[in-house]
Amino acid sequence: MSPTTTKLSLDEIFKLAKAALISNGADEENADAVATTVTNAERDGSVSHGLFRIPGYIKALKSNKVDGSARPEIKEVTPTIFRCDAQNGFAPLAHKYGIKKLIDAANIFGIAGLSIQRCHHFAALWPEVEAISDQGLVGLTSVSYTPAVAPSGGKTALYGTNPIAFSWPRPGKNPIVFDMATASMAKGEIQIAARDGHSVPLGTGLSASGELTTDAAEIDKGVLLPFGGHKGSVIALMIELLSGPLVGETFSYESKERDNGDGGPAQGGQFILAMSPKILSGKDTSEQTEDFLKKYKSIDGVRIPGERRHNNRLDTGPRDVNSALIETIKGLCS
Ligand code: NDP
Repeated sequence: MSPTTTKLSLDEIFKLAKAALISNGADEENADAVATTVTNAERDGSVSHGLFRIPGYIKALKSNKVDGSARPEIKEVTPTIFRCDAQNGFAPLAHKYGIKKLIDAANIFGIAGLSIQRCHHFAALWPEVEAISDQGLVGLTSVSYTPAVAPSGGKTALYGTNPIAFSWPRPGKNPIVFDMATASMAKGEIQIAARDGHSVPLGTGLSASGELTTDAAEIDKGVLLPFGGHKGSVIALMIELLSGPLVGETFSYESKERDNGDGGPAQGGQFILAMSPKILSGKDTSEQTEDFLKKYKSIDGVRIPGERRHNNRLDTGPRDVNSALIETIKGLCS
């Protein structure tokens, strides 16, 4: 049975998210940044990173794990490397402060990196890479989380659901963007499938007793598997290294050990890279990209990654939001 939904305009979604955050200790700038990320996720149809995340954000504010009035500090380590100390704040403000510097440096030097530390990331990654590609650059980013995924061949969780996102600029058009968990399915999607009583494909994960199952609620209590067998498993391993030691932060298992278990986003790191195709190639690559995409799209059944979200974005009307979730969030507003 499908859950009951209520129509909310994008403005109502933003106001509800912001009110809940402010009621629980976030200041104006942090609440604004997080509510914008949440609203953009609902707008694009990424519902597992929209209002669904608000109760978790609130738990982290209430337990004081996250500082709702944090101001990220950004150090220019070299002309092309920036290190952001998010000061135990939510990720969207660190992005707002850090990505502009990254873009400016990559547009001058061709390539620039941003390491984010002491940050709480709970959302989709496409906003970061799309912001980079909107300025004519290639974006690449990853975060780890807390263990939920067993390495290929194993039955014990070690990796986070470890997403990676990539974006390629197309001047005047939406970028090519892929943004994916390296788990067979994102944890939020499993939780939503469990909540709504939907089954998931065999191979998504194992039950607590280590058996393959299609029952999302059983997998929620057990472990997820990486996408694509051992190949996805090694990419998840790479993300552990890029989003942990490379940026001066923790592996997923260390993030869990440090976490207070309040159900909100654990502290972790983020790796972000921006590259200029113009500077690296020495020419304008737009025509070559468009020629490639023409060939790509001429293949029956194929679509550009990111296109689903970009099409959803064209609809500025209300969104169907889980009614019980709306009531839960209203209950969190004072
Ligand atoms: P999906 O499997 O839904 O999609 C992965 C990517 O593939 C998307 O970019 C999607 O584009 C693209 N895609 C899907 N179908 C096709 C197709 N037929 N042809 C071409 N491209 C296609 O994503 P996931 O469920 O793996 O991840 C969901 C989100 O969860 C991500 O945004 C990720 O960042 C987030 N996440 C965040 C975590 C965190 O700790 N912060 C942890 C784990 C996940 P499109 O969008 O257009 O459908």
